[in-house]
Amino acid sequence: MYINGKWANAASGKIFEVFNPATGQRIDSVPDGDAQDTEMAIGAAADAFSGWSGLTAYQRSEYLYVAHRIMMDNMDHLAHVMTEEQGKPIRAARNEVKYGADFLLWFAEEAKRIYGRTILSSRADQRFVVLKQPVGVVGAVTPWNYPVSMITRKVAPALAAGCTIVLKPAEATPLCAMEMFKIFEQACIPSGVVNLVTALSPEPVGAAMLMDKRVRKITFTGSTDVGKMIARKAADQLKRISLELGGHAPFIVCEDADPVHAAKGAMMVKFLNTGQACISPNRIFVHQRLLDDFLNEAHKRVSGMTVGNGMDPGVSIGPLIGPAALDKVVRQVEDAVSLGAEVICGGRRMVANGLDKGCFFAPTILNRVTPDMRIYREETFGPVAAVIPYDNETDVLDMANDTNYGLASYVYTRDISRAMRYFEGLHFGIVGINDINPTAAAAPFGGMKESGLGREGAQEGISEYLETKLGGFSI
Ligand code: NAD
Repeated sequence: MYINGKWANAASGKIFEVFNPATGQRIDSVPDGDAQDTEMAIGAAADAFSGWSGLTAYQRSEYLYVAHRIMMDNMDHLAHVMTEEQGKPIRAARNEVKYGADFLLWFAEEAKRIYGRTILSSRADQRFVVLKQPVGVVGAVTPWNYPVSMITRKVAPALAAGCTIVLKPAEATPLCAMEMFKIFEQACIPSGVVNLVTALSPEPVGAAMLMDKRVRKITFTGSTDVGKMIARKAADQLKRISLELGGHAPFIVCEDADPVHAAKGAMMVKFLNTGQACISPNRIFVHQRLLDDFLNEAHKRVSGMTVGNGMDPGVSIGPLIGPAALDKVVRQVEDAVSLGAEVICGGRRMVANGLDKGCFFAPTILNRVTPDMRIYREETFGPVAAVIPYDNETDVLDMANDTNYGLASYVYTRDISRAMRYFEGLHFGIVGINDINPTAAAAPFGGMKESGLGREGAQEGISEYLETKLGGFSI
């Protein structure tokens, strides 16, 4: 763990092991932190706060520029660690490192653009001044599916704003987090400003962050259930919260779309990270008229995907993160098939040629998915494309919105009016119109409804770490 500028073991001396999800082999072991370690880290962050927030924005910005450069210089190493620990193909891992580094660069720039304002008063002797100040110590919790970029998406804006931070990464991917904190160390970020607590069991660390009054904000990325629990507990002290939670993205292929182009896009985004992405399309609505062409192209694309260890050249689908993830996918597919879904391809675990050592599932297309199936409602988080034929635009918008989630959505159409109707009508924080990658450090990312609160990236991303203070001056 990295606490107060030093690498440390857990106070208890405990460790836990980290495994390669493609081979099942042990990679390393890391400290198993608990509440005591978390309190130490919070203490370090609290002590460092006045010094860090007292620097000029230009000084804080400089640290982030340096961290960005070191991260880019270490791209291959970081990608290697990520593929070994998380399973995604090495090319996708490199893309994630680049995306993660973008947050350091964007917020290095944005640090210098934290603006207050003055407001005119109706009284001649009065002036109003609005000042933005850092919220204080931040507790951050990140997931395993994007184990590097989810860290920089929180640390970069927090540091830019003048906050200090204690971060707990997912138990499946502590090594990526350690590599990131080595970069922060090399960037000479002052002691206590960034702190890392690794732990096998998240509850004691989360509880310590939630109970400690010195922590003024919790930023969490993960499942909706845990996010809700954090929101409930944070209410006790009215800590500020940002929650980036699950999704159930609709992908609508309109009557006027090019079915081949749409199928290409849908399959690319669906199978990214083996479907383990919060913005992965979970319900692909295809206009009945285009269904055959869409399915033919989708099938062709999926047949060309190679499943295996992400280190091997040519592999585009890596393993699922672990047995529980595999069970969930198997259950969803079995349930859908038992209720009448048609398997176009895949539909089973892959075990031949050594794949039995990891949790591999064949990329799958299911056709004629219906609302009574679990996959229609539950977040999929696996390589399964669920296709739902439709024939009426009004119905499909209602169907797309008929979910408790509200993170990403996608529409393929060549009609500008229709594109605008969907853009305005979809109850989702992100709408990709003929665009399967509507994300960037400069763009606000986040969900409506049970997909979360707040936004990451963009100007919105830094405002999550700022308080608004009003000064009334009588002169
Ligand atoms: P998860 O909620 O199980 O775990 C996420 C993180 O929370 C991990 O670090 C975990 O250790 C921690 N955690 C779990 N229980 C906790 C507790 N009681 N107290 C404190 N921390 C706790 O989710 P997961 O399965 O690891 O991640 C996948 C989920 O994350 C999916 O639902 C996915 O959609 C979501 N996600 C969302 C975004 C987004 O930006 N909206 C991005 C990536 C992933």
